[in-house]
Amino acid sequence: MTKQQPVALAPSPEHSTQFVTAWSAPSRTHDHVRYVVTYDRLANHFECQCPGYTYRGHCAHLQAAMDALVADWPSRARKGAAA
Ligand SMILES: [Zn+2]
Repeated sequence: MTKQQPVALAPSPEHSTQFVTAWSAPSRTHDHVRYVVTYDRLANHFECQCPGYTYRGHCAHLQAAMDALVADWPSRARKGAAA
């Protein structure tokens, strides 16, 4: 298994709504392609536009979005930590 580059996500306000957090992520294989990754808070559902997500239901962009979200939650994401 080759070591993969981390995905550089950028916040995507134009795709975000009150309940949806969106990022744009660069394609690993196509220089000028970016995919939109969304997280729907109400449904607790991540989604990505890339073919990997379409075929496998998971992808590196999605993982990066999950990591970004966890990093964003100061105390809630850390189990048992007092605020
Ligand atoms: Zn993806």
